[in-house]
Amino acid sequence: MADQSFLDWPFLADKHRALATDLQAWCAMHLPVDHQDVDSACRGLVRQLGAAGWLEHSVAKQGETLDVRSLCLLRETLAYHDALADFSFAMQGLGMGAVSLFGTPEQQAWLDKTRRGEAIAAFALTEPESGSDVANLQTTAQREGDAFVLNGEKTWISNGGIADVYVVFARTGEAPGAKGLSAFLVPANTPGLSVVERLEVIAPHPLAQLKFDNIRVPAAALIGQAGSGFKMAMSVLDVFRTTVGAAALGMARRALDETRGRVQKRHLFGAPLADLQMVQGHVADMALGVDASALLVYRSAWTKDQGAARVTREAAMAKVHATETAQHVIDQAVQLHGGDGVRRGTVVEQLYREIRALRIYEGATDVQKVVIARQTL
Ligand SMILES: Cc1cc2nc3c(=O)[nH]c(=O)nc-3n(C[C@H](O)[C@H](O)[C@H](O)COP(=O)(O)OP(=O)(O)OC[C@H]3O[C@@H](n4cnc5c(N)ncnc54)[C@H](O)[C@@H]3O)c2cc1C
Repeated sequence: MADQSFLDWPFLADKHRALATDLQAWCAMHLPVDHQDVDSACRGLVRQLGAAGWLEHSVAKQGETLDVRSLCLLRETLAYHDALADFSFAMQGLGMGAVSLFGTPEQQAWLDKTRRGEAIAAFALTEPESGSDVANLQTTAQREGDAFVLNGEKTWISNGGIADVYVVFARTGEAPGAKGLSAFLVPANTPGLSVVERLEVIAPHPLAQLKFDNIRVPAAALIGQAGSGFKMAMSVLDVFRTTVGAAALGMARRALDETRGRVQKRHLFGAPLADLQMVQGHVADMALGVDASALLVYRSAWTKDQGAARVTREAAMAKVHATETAQHVIDQAVQLHGGDGVRRGTVVEQLYREIRALRIYEGATDVQKVVIARQTL
C-alpha cells in the first residue's frame, strides 16, 4: 500500500498501527491465492486466516465488544491484496455477529472454532421475496415443545454450501413485521437443511440458495430474545456495514496504486502518461475519493469503538461513499490501463468485477440513502 499516512490519523491507536504493519507483511507473503476453485480457496483461506490469528478479530472476546477499527483495517488490507481473502475474513465475523454480540455461553462455543478457522460461518437473512424489505421475510420458526421447527427458503447466502454453521433469521410471530422475527443458530448438518442451487456471480465466491424443510432445532438454538431478530440483524449490520466500506476502500487504494504505476511507466506522445494534465485530473479525483472514503470509514469505526450504541447514519454514509467511490476509482483505473484494463486476469479487471456487489449487499446504496435522509430530516 503506497500511502500509509492514514495510519497516523487520530482515529487510530498504536495497536491499530501495529496490526496494520504485521498484516501487510503477512498479506505480501500469502496473498493472492488461486481463485480457480472458490470453495477450496475459501476453505483454505479460512484455515490460513485462523492459523495466523487474524480471525481472532472477527468476533468479540468474552466480556468485550468488537473493535471496529481493527475489523476495518483487516478488511481494507485483505481486500487490497485479495478480495476472496477479505470475503473469507468478513463472513466469519458477519456470520457469527449475532452469536458474538447476543449469544449464550453455549452458543459462543462455536466462536472458538470460527476464530481458529476450524468452522465456516454464514449469515442467512435474505429470501427470494424479501431482499431489501427484510421485515417481510417469510421463513417461519414454530415452537413445538422444547424445539423450533423452521420452514422456508433463503437466497444469496455467502458461504452457502461450504458453511458449517448458519445464523438463520425466521418469523416467530410475536408481532407483525419486524417485531416478529428471531435468530437461530443452525449447524449445516441439521436434517432438512439443503442447498437448492449454487449461484454464479461476476466475481465468484461460494453463494447459494438454501431450503429449510421442517428442520428441528432445540429451543437453546434461539439467539437472544424471541422477537428481537430484526433488531439483532440491524445491530450486526451496523458494525459490518462500515467494514464493507473498508473493503471497498482497500480495493480503491489498490486501483489507485496500480494506476500510479501504470501512468508513470507508460510512455505516449513522447512522455509518461502521467505528464498529461487530463490524466493528472483523473488521478487527483481518485486520490481525493480514496481519502474522503477513508475519513468516513474510520469516523464511523471510531464512533462505534467510543461506545456509541448505534452508528446507523455514520455506517450508512461510510458504506455509500466508499463503495460508490471505489466503483468510480476502479473504473478510472480500467480506463487509464487501456486495453489491459479489460483483459481477463489483470488486477484492475478483477477489481472491476469484485467491487460491484458491495454496492448491493448489506443494504443497497439506494436504501442507505433513505436511511441517511431519515436521520438527517
Ligand atoms: C454477492 C452477494 C452476496 C450476498 N451475501 C448475503 C449473505 O451472506 N446473507 C444474506 O442474507 N444476504 C446476502 N446477500 C443478499 C443481499 O443482501 C441482497 O441482495 C440485498 O439486500 C438486496 O436485495 P435483493 O437482491 O432482493 O434486491 P431488491 O430488494 O429487489 O432491490 C433491488 C434494488 O432496488 C432498489 N431499492 C430497494 N429498496 C429500495 C428503497 N427502499 N428505496 C430505493 N431503492 C430501493 C435498490 O437499487 C436495490 O438494489 C448477498 C447478495 C449478493 C449480491
